[in-house]
Amino acid sequence: MEKKTTRIVIVPSPGFSHLLSILEFSKRLIQHSNGLHVTCLIPTVESPPESSKAIVQTLPSTIQSTFLPSVHFNDDTPMASQVQMTMTQSLPFIREALKDLTSTSNLVAMAADLFASDALICAKELNMLSFVYFPTSAMTVSFCFYLPKLDQEVSTIDYKDHPEPIHFPGCVPVHGRDLPNPVQDRTGQFYEFFLERCKRLGSADGVIVNSFAGFEAAPITALTEEASGYPSLYPVGPIIQSGSDDITKNGYDCLRWLDKQEASSVLYVSFGSGGTLSREQLNELAFGFEQSGKKFLWVVRAPSEIAHSAYLHFGNDDPLRFLPDGFIERTKEQGLVVPSWAPQVEILGHSATGGFLSHCGWNSILESVMNGVPIIAWPLFAEQRMNAAMLTDGLRVAIRPNGNENGLVERGEVEKVVRRLMEAQEGTEIGRRMQTLKSAAAETLQQDGSSSKILNQFAGRLMGN
Ligand code: UDP
Repeated sequence: MEKKTTRIVIVPSPGFSHLLSILEFSKRLIQHSNGLHVTCLIPTVESPPESSKAIVQTLPSTIQSTFLPSVHFNDDTPMASQVQMTMTQSLPFIREALKDLTSTSNLVAMAADLFASDALICAKELNMLSFVYFPTSAMTVSFCFYLPKLDQEVSTIDYKDHPEPIHFPGCVPVHGRDLPNPVQDRTGQFYEFFLERCKRLGSADGVIVNSFAGFEAAPITALTEEASGYPSLYPVGPIIQSGSDDITKNGYDCLRWLDKQEASSVLYVSFGSGGTLSREQLNELAFGFEQSGKKFLWVVRAPSEIAHSAYLHFGNDDPLRFLPDGFIERTKEQGLVVPSWAPQVEILGHSATGGFLSHCGWNSILESVMNGVPIIAWPLFAEQRMNAAMLTDGLRVAIRPNGNENGLVERGEVEKVVRRLMEAQEGTEIGRRMQTLKSAAAETLQQDGSSSKILNQFAGRLMGN
């Protein structure tokens, strides 16, 4: 009889960036283990985006992946409910897939994204080790462990109305309005789901987080102190995408355009895989860039009043038609606008890129850190406002613009923050601090660096060493 392969099953939550992160983690895990195989079961909303299909096509043979049967929604179903319902409806398929795998594999563990952690029930049924994978910060992990306590302590008001910044272990204090979206509406159904998930974290065999001590020393220490009583923490980051094998014509044009620019002169602007701005905000941003006179490379997406509207659903509108009249012509010597998608890792690694106006998704932050690029923090949804607080108030590697009384960042403010980052002494100092983080990131990934050692320990635990 053929020997069974030792296998870990990974389950991302729906959405490109969560899939990307857990797959990159798996690639690194394989490098650190001798003979481990991975199966990735992918819960899917509607049909998977091209970007997700492209990354699974380039996986090594040791990582198998399957898009689970997709779940369909009405346009007005809130994103959080779509994710929750997709997980619930995917559980029978996950059970089925595990059953099939047991005939050929020794299933040692499952690692599921926080938002896919319902799947860990299936792992427990088969006596597999269960891990929660956080494709976000250690600060988010700390917040999730702390939430049940916060829920008890602040029982009468919404967190956004809390008069004082909220302290959770090892983290920079955060205003209630900057806490992650799922907890903003305490009367909403999703709040209860999220709280339950946080309460269940303690029963996992460990928590894996895409961060590192050289970046988030205090939250990592708080989470690993013996007295914390939390499951083992594995800070294995920074893990970022290795780069695009298949650069599109648009992507190629971006890189050639950058080749012609002076070193560190260009502000790269992107709101992640699905962030969108309102039409009014898009306008203000455009005029602000124009007024600043600074070079920019902007990935433009069609506007929407809902900031995450393109995260799970992709429109066909030409985004460039929403820019102010004559903007492209007037700024043709100053900037380049690209519709919807650009090769971000290559852009951040290009010597002409000197700043990043980012929605503060965690992958984008790590990609910026690994390339030493200072940030203008423009958070939109999920835990991005918390990430922005950490970058600005804690690490001081980002500038955050101020909105007016309606939350709109006006063109004058855009111009001001662009200049502060790209030409003022403040920007130079932020750049210096980013370079220190860049070195720490490179160090931790070396063979004897702390993230590599932690990954070795994790792999050893799976392989029974
Ligand atoms: N990304 C990219 N090109 C784009 C927009 C995004 O390659 O035009 C990649 C980016 O490099 C990152 C991921 O998509 O790896 C976005 O993840 P992040 O966590 O920053 O944000 P999210 O998409 O979850 O909001």
